[in-house]
Amino acid sequence: MTLQSPRLKKKSDKRAPRLLTVERAAYITPNMIRITFAGDVLLGIPHDCAGANCKIMLPEEGQDKIEFETRLNEGPKPVTRTYTVRAIRKLPLEMDIDFVAHGDNGPASRWAMNAKKGDFCGFAGPGPVKISEFHADWYLVAADMSALPVAAATLEAMPEDAKGVAIFEILSGEDRQEMITPKGIEMRWIVSPDPYHPSGKQEELIRGLQWPDGVVQTCIAGESGLIRSLRDFVNNEKGVDRANTYISGYWKIGMIEDEHQAFKRSEA
Ligand SMILES: Cc1cc2nc3c(=O)[nH]c(=O)nc-3n(C[C@H](O)[C@H](O)[C@H](O)COP(=O)(O)OP(=O)(O)OC[C@H]3O[C@@H](n4cnc5c(N)ncnc54)[C@H](O)[C@@H]3O)c2cc1C
Repeated sequence: MTLQSPRLKKKSDKRAPRLLTVERAAYITPNMIRITFAGDVLLGIPHDCAGANCKIMLPEEGQDKIEFETRLNEGPKPVTRTYTVRAIRKLPLEMDIDFVAHGDNGPASRWAMNAKKGDFCGFAGPGPVKISEFHADWYLVAADMSALPVAAATLEAMPEDAKGVAIFEILSGEDRQEMITPKGIEMRWIVSPDPYHPSGKQEELIRGLQWPDGVVQTCIAGESGLIRSLRDFVNNEKGVDRANTYISGYWKIGMIEDEHQAFKRSEA
């Protein structure tokens, strides 16, 4: 019997990306598109993965399904972007991913804005859910539109008696979303129509919060510049334990995702 080297084994264990087909695509608010995928290709994706991130691989314009599937399996790797599983249901087997419609300057946003039933993309993941254990006396959730899916999934998973504040910065009043949240979470919505000129309002609100005693957990994500400043505030000024802090830059003004990821790696 020949033993496989661990390295080879690891590579062959890695699941190839799934080829997902769009079942429905619809604007749920003026700047957010919900793409629903369906079918047996979703089998094996854990049913408790709402809020976990995943990779979406995008076809080139006009590329047919067979050609794209070959590329998914054999490379070169298609344009890839990071998204969040917003919801997954068993019957029928469906998965929702919410895309900010930020214009046609990004391949993912452009793809979502044009998506219709029968369109396709690649999917890898999901990764682990961002917060799976809730043990805080007080929660701070903060998100812009790109992080609404992770924030909403986190709020929906919280224990009923959770207490805290959730602060959302959205592009228009109509981008406010209904979500099922614990009664003790105070919901605040800020409208800032221009994502490229940060309003500073979310940070101002967060810095002005009455900070409680006890254990704090956070779920904070959004534009990288703001996140850098909030990370400093939460971890260094308020001394929240890093193990209880999910705080992550989801996009960066003036950078495409690959540049943003490289920038994050260079800072780590
Ligand atoms: C863990 C994680 C989870 C994420 N989950 C989601 C999610 O569920 N839904 C979601 O919509 N996004 C999510 N994002 C953010 C998403 O990956 C980025 O917005 C990504 O850049 C979008 O790719 P694109 O091809 O549309 O634009 P890119 O080609 O990456 O960028 C093109 C241009 O658009 C700008 N841009 C990128 N994102 C935005 C934005 N939101 N608003 C305004 N301008 C922008 C860039 O600065 C750049 O100038 C997530 C990011 C991470 C790291």
